[in-house]
Amino acid sequence: MDYQAILNILQKEFTPKEGMGKVASYIPELSKVDPLKFGIYLFCQDGSSFEFGDSQERFSIQSISKVFTLTIAKELLGKDLWERVDVEPSGTPFNSLTELEREKGIPRNPFINAGSIVVADALLSVLEDPKEDLLMFVRKLCGDNDIHFDKAVAKSEKKHGYRNKALVNYMKSLGNISNDTEKILDFYFYQCSIAMTCEQLSKAFMLFANEGKHFQTQEKVIDRQSVKRINSIMQTCGFYDEAGEFSYRVGLPGKSGVGGGIVAVHPEQYSVAVWSPMLNQKGNSALGMKVLEELTTLTGLSIF
Ligand code: GLU
Repeated sequence: MDYQAILNILQKEFTPKEGMGKVASYIPELSKVDPLKFGIYLFCQDGSSFEFGDSQERFSIQSISKVFTLTIAKELLGKDLWERVDVEPSGTPFNSLTELEREKGIPRNPFINAGSIVVADALLSVLEDPKEDLLMFVRKLCGDNDIHFDKAVAKSEKKHGYRNKALVNYMKSLGNISNDTEKILDFYFYQCSIAMTCEQLSKAFMLFANEGKHFQTQEKVIDRQSVKRINSIMQTCGFYDEAGEFSYRVGLPGKSGVGGGIVAVHPEQYSVAVWSPMLNQKGNSALGMKVLEELTTLTGLSIF
């Protein structure tokens, strides 16, 4: 496959323009980002890579971090985790409170805020320093130690994250939260604040395209069954209430974040990260969705 030729076409075809969407502003620090940033990095299983635009600039990965925390929690807790969080698409926005009462405090899946907050709580119960362990895990997956929390973003969300405070307290009242709610939120806001480039993200996600093996060392990090399970949750739940649309248009498992990043994987082929901070109404990168749709159209390949 001539990925370079395909990326050349994408670069010509797609230019970010004001008005394509809105940069997230409910976390004030995120609203400072230049809306016209745009980059893509495609990393193949054979080690080759292709990129253009702002692919080397760090941005806030936000909900993409939910895939990393789920991966760690799944390894540490195994099936017990699924007693506390389900694996069903929610069909509701990322920060929704609505189904929690009906579901008795069990979030629909680990990729909406409620679900990831439960995962954060579970990690707090088994790890002494979950923030540091998470950073170490992500650095290891990328083969790059230069990955950090963006403290300004974490603090900004801590100050304004009323919705997440409501979620954790509501779940606590329904019996699905064990640790101190402030500590859980602190970890959750920090995990969301991790800043990474498209290159770093696509390298980290190669795990899910490379049968659970590290792309450099080929060390087995997670088993094939975990890859299957996490990819399928990305496929069905990775884009909030737009997961069906992403699956329909792009045909790959993936995860988005309100920082404007999207990562998608084509198992045994490539992992790709795109960043454009202007979000559509569902909170996903408007241009990112379009570019990835065109990528799988031009390659003629998807997991289907
Ligand atoms: N930190 C964000 C929040 O909890 C993450 C949302 C997202 O990226 O979907 O609102």
